[in-house]
Amino acid sequence: MEKLSERLLRLRYSQTFVMSNKARDMKASGVDVISLTLGEPDFDVPANIKQAAIDAINENYSHYSPVPGFLDLRQAIAAKLKRDNELDYKPSQICVANGAKQAIINVLMALVNDGDEVILPVPYWVSYDEMVKMVGGRSVFIKTSYVNDFKITAEQLEEAITPKTKVLLYSSPCNPSGSYYTYDELKSLAKVISKYPHITVISDEIYEYINYETKHRSIAAFPEIYEQVAVINGLSKGYAMTGWRMGYSACPEWLAKACDKVQGQMTSGANTVAQRAAITALTTDPAEYRYMIDEFKKRRDIVYDLMKEIPGFKVLLPKSAFYFYPDISFYIGKTLNGKEIKDSDDFAMFLLDEAHVGSVGGVSFGSPECIRFSYAASEVNLREAMKRIKETLEKYT
Ligand code: PMP
Ligand code: GLU
Repeated sequence: MEKLSERLLRLRYSQTFVMSNKARDMKASGVDVISLTLGEPDFDVPANIKQAAIDAINENYSHYSPVPGFLDLRQAIAAKLKRDNELDYKPSQICVANGAKQAIINVLMALVNDGDEVILPVPYWVSYDEMVKMVGGRSVFIKTSYVNDFKITAEQLEEAITPKTKVLLYSSPCNPSGSYYTYDELKSLAKVISKYPHITVISDEIYEYINYETKHRSIAAFPEIYEQVAVINGLSKGYAMTGWRMGYSACPEWLAKACDKVQGQMTSGANTVAQRAAITALTTDPAEYRYMIDEFKKRRDIVYDLMKEIPGFKVLLPKSAFYFYPDISFYIGKTLNGKEIKDSDDFAMFLLDEAHVGSVGGVSFGSPECIRFSYAASEVNLREAMKRIKETLEKYT
């Protein structure tokens, strides 16, 4: 008899970690690999945030916190949502979680029954589809491509909605495409959602600060759907705090209470030292940390110029987040150096083996014709990686 549950057997390993582990193993065995796999800022945590964590240890923040987080942290989050997003939330509507990842799964657990439908615009972040499977739901995909900047329209959304639709889940700015929805686009999506009060939008805004064009907009700011939105955010990307595991949700009261209930049985309150440090991060003027965004933008421009020259890549200039997501369908169906390329996962493995550059194939983001490169890496490594890929592929074109 199979010991593992059917639920577990349906799950895939997170492809971001699979590819970063492969790159790490090759490096450990002496191969000079450049890993553009994981999306994580390569900056250190800013000094004032580190100091706040040290102070918290010395002040003995060593006991359980309330399940949804310390009240003064939730007040700081509410003030941040007002300051940056013109959103009104009370601390009782906020649940601090062990990363945005947990904040999303809390909301999904709270909402989705077996067989309920969750709409995922494609490409979606790797974990969304797997989280939907974990909670017994069924993903319904809306396809996009590089031709329309990887964004869905209000008409596409309306067509995908059925009486079983419970959730629309997307990230804007988007991992992996680097697109974001403009104010007008969000407005047209909000208009559709407002007609279906049984639907909740999970709006993942973790890349909010990494937008090179404009101020971030949240779909929760449209009053007609405020009661239907769960805003997800966290400190991993904007503050380079991936390992500190700080994320949160802001929801209508009834849903916030449900998140508290789920989390209270799973993990309790998030790490207390990180919570204290998060207060300092969120109450500091974001302009203080702008240097990271400026650096990402510089790297993006460098990579764009180099990637455009790679044969067979159709590439858009990403406007936000820190990923390139070129269409590589030119290579699909070909055999390169004896290796059959059936999809972009095969292509990512080919690039790792032949060019010694790590990336993540698009299959787990819903697009087997695209491949993701994180440019949260040093300029030297980015230049070298693009050179290696170009030289490798020129042999086959
Ligand atoms: N959402 C998106 C779109 C992401 O790219 C990530 C990866 N960091 C997460 C959520 C999860 O972030 P966290 O580190 O806060 O769990
Ligand atoms: N979110 C990052 C990524 O997409 C980190 C890895 C993960 O959480 O999957 O690469």
